[in-house]
Amino acid sequence: MKRWTQSLQDNYGTPSIELISGKGSLVKGADGTIYLDFLAGIATNVLGHAHPAIVKAVSKQVATLGHVSNFYAHPNVLELSEKLQKLTGDKSARVFYCNSGAEANEAALKLSRKTGKSRIVATQEAFHGRTMGALSLTGQAAKRNPFKPLIKNIKHVPFGDSKAMKRAINKKTAMVIVEPIMGEAGVIVPPAGYLNDLRQYCDANGALLVFDCVQTGMGRTGDWFGYEYSGIKPDVITLAKGLGGGLPLGAMIALGKASHLLVAGDHGSTFGGNPIATAAALAVIKSIEKEKILPHVNEVGEFLLAEIALIAGVTEVRGAGLLIGVTLQSPVAKLVTKKCQEMGLLINAPGESIIRIAPPLNVTMKQAQKFITIFSQCVKEAHNV
Ligand SMILES: *Cc1c(COP(=O)(O)O)cnc(C)c1O
Repeated sequence: MKRWTQSLQDNYGTPSIELISGKGSLVKGADGTIYLDFLAGIATNVLGHAHPAIVKAVSKQVATLGHVSNFYAHPNVLELSEKLQKLTGDKSARVFYCNSGAEANEAALKLSRKTGKSRIVATQEAFHGRTMGALSLTGQAAKRNPFKPLIKNIKHVPFGDSKAMKRAINKKTAMVIVEPIMGEAGVIVPPAGYLNDLRQYCDANGALLVFDCVQTGMGRTGDWFGYEYSGIKPDVITLAKGLGGGLPLGAMIALGKASHLLVAGDHGSTFGGNPIATAAALAVIKSIEKEKILPHVNEVGEFLLAEIALIAGVTEVRGAGLLIGVTLQSPVAKLVTKKCQEMGLLINAPGESIIRIAPPLNVTMKQAQKFITIFSQCVKEAHNV
């Protein structure tokens, strides 16, 4: 793709295909190929492509009032904040808006400084974003090393290891940040009780517990937020990806005492909570409710987990709802991804042997069956070479 290399920087590498339009879980390439989209803009297009409710809400908003800055309120930002507060089940919840996951975690980091403490505990292999603050939270050496020095006083402990967390958290800890399920690391599910242990250690030491739900939020796991299965509540929830259903929107939601740490002048974002992005988010939430998408996510997710487990060459399949990680017998994940793309299926390989599946939440059962047909064939072929 010459035009890409001659006009864009190389930070993503060069894409092999160009996409031009989409409808639901299908997306069309520039050469006319129709792909079944099981990546959904990296767990972002929760309602698929060109969902009528988003198209309508965004079109109407851009024709009415496109942007106002946070010097002024507008109806969407108020309604969305009330909605999100309701979804957390906590009237004390207060929302800050930004435009991405990294910014949502940056906001959480700044919020934690307002506790008067500065030590942070995060987890190895976690992904929290690429800006300098968020990258300092991210636990992946390859992404961090070229950009050192990063923010100090951030300790990374093994994910899912309660004992390591207990040792790392003390009275000087300002915040602990974890993904309820690690997404970019390959869909890694922590042991039962892990999140509950973190809640206990944070409470004992007066530390904020931050759940990065950027990837696991907005119905992805079959719940509104990826931590809900644990039954506990964090002090801070960060959201982005699915929140705007494809439009750029992030949020940092603080609960309880944490909700009053930021005061006027502490933080801001010109575009954060913009009328168009919040119109899209309202359409996302209302459609998930109206179309009863959460039970559907669990139903299709369970079907996929069961079917994938039967494929020769698959050694493990895990996840929640429609965020699924597959470990292959051999390091052929890139090859499987390539073969699937050639057969009209988009998936992603976050590791040499790991495939990630994150289709739109309204993907049909028939499309899930088609996925199984193509994916099982490609996994088998990749293992025979
Ligand atoms: C994608 C992701 C981020 C970063 O979001 P951006 O919008 O790319 O900045 C942060 N945390 C998690 C868990 C993510 O999956």
